[in-house]
Order: sequence, then C-alpha cells, then structure tokens
Amino acid sequence: MNDQQLSGIGMTSQRTRNRLVERLRDRGIENQQVLDVIASTPRHIFIDEALAHRAYEDSSLPIGNGQTISQPYIVAKMTELLLAAGPLNNVLEIGTGSGYQTAILAPLVKKLSSVERIEPLYLKARERIKQLKLNNVRFKLSDGHWGWPQQGPYDGIIAAAAPEQIPQGLLDQMSDGGRMILPVGGEQQSLILVTRQGNYWQKTVLEDVKFVPFLSGIKNN
Ligand code: SAH
Repeated sequence: MNDQQLSGIGMTSQRTRNRLVERLRDRGIENQQVLDVIASTPRHIFIDEALAHRAYEDSSLPIGNGQTISQPYIVAKMTELLLAAGPLNNVLEIGTGSGYQTAILAPLVKKLSSVERIEPLYLKARERIKQLKLNNVRFKLSDGHWGWPQQGPYDGIIAAAAPEQIPQGLLDQMSDGGRMILPVGGEQQSLILVTRQGNYWQKTVLEDVKFVPFLSGIKNN
C-alpha cells in the first residue's frame, strides 16, 4: 500500500474521517485523545477495498470469516470507558478481528497484547498494525478464554466478542485496581465494566450491545 492509499482520498479522505469524529462527538464521546486517534487512523485499510467507501460510516462491516469490524461508536465508547480511570500500562485485547480497535488503543496505552482465534484475521491484522508502525503491540493466535497469562497481569482488558459468562481466566489476569470492559450474553447482550479491588470484582452493567459470540478453539481458515 502506498502513502496515498494509506492516507485516503475521496470517500476515504481526512475530511470524511473528520465527519465521523463529529458524529461520535454528537453521540456523546468526550475523550479528546480517543477522538484524535480516530481522526488520524485510516479505518479503510482494515476492510476490503470493495467496502472502503463505507469505512467512515458509523457502522460495523463484514471482514470475512463470518466476523465484523466493530462500529466506530462502540470502539470509541469502549476505549473511553477503559481509559476513564487514568492511563494504562498493560492492556489485553480479546478478538483482534480486523485490528481496528487495536490501532485505536495502541497509541493510548503503553503495551498492548491482542489475541484472535481465526488465523487469516490474525495474520492480516498483524500486517496492518506493522504498516501503521505501532510498535507496542504483540499478537497471538489463541482462544481468548485463556487470556495471555505470560504478558499479564493487566490493568486493562477489552473484549470484542460476547461470552455467556465472563471467563475466569480473564478475571484472574486483571491486576489489583484493573478494569475490564466486555459484552456479556447471548441473544441479549450488555456491555459490562468489571473493576478489581483485591479479591473483589465489581461488575457494572452499562448499555445494550450486539457483538459476535465469544467462541472456543482456534480456526486455521
Ligand atoms: N475489534 C474488532 C472486532 C472483531 S469481531 C474489529 O473492529 O475488527 C470479534 C472478533 O473476536 C472476531 O474476529 C472473532 O474471531 C474473535 N473472537 C471470538 N471469540 C474469540 C476467542 N475465544 N478468542 C479470541 N478471539 C475471539
């Protein structure tokens, strides 16, 4: 990809991206750092060229393998919630998908570890993040039920797929004072904020959401 493709023209231009940021502000996103990263991140490189003209609509879009790139509003909201108590040093992301959420989080935290269970998505996301020169991210092809204990504990965990119940491994890998934000449920899902104080995990139910399911095992195609 050349510089012009990366920066975008027409429907993928900076101007189009700025309009998306205005929409997110109207919908209640307040964290200026988050809005700035969204303004400077080319979402169109995270989706197929055939859909690139829709990259700056506030909607989720298919990325292949039955998965979707998350809606910009929900990416912004979850990032804002994760950062709400102050800067984070060590963050775990479950469900890399296209890598877009990864690209938004990486500049805002010290170290980011991201796990995806579908190999083709994992490979493509890793390439895109390298292209954007985001050097504080490491990737793993793995089932996020297990988290990534070798890189933990984490002061922030974020998941882009909805488990029926919060996996114990993820609760265990939160540091004292850590925050986790994830969708939980089946047909009906809610966004949940978990905060850990010692051996007490407080759960706060936020808004209704719709995410792909949190599935088990690894898929190679
Ligand atoms: N934030 C991503 C969202 C992708 S959709 C983006 O904007 O592109 C959620 C992703 O979670 C999918 O790619 C799916 O394969 C992945 N996923 C689901 N269950 C998982 C699990 N147990 N471990 C790791 N990844 C998982």
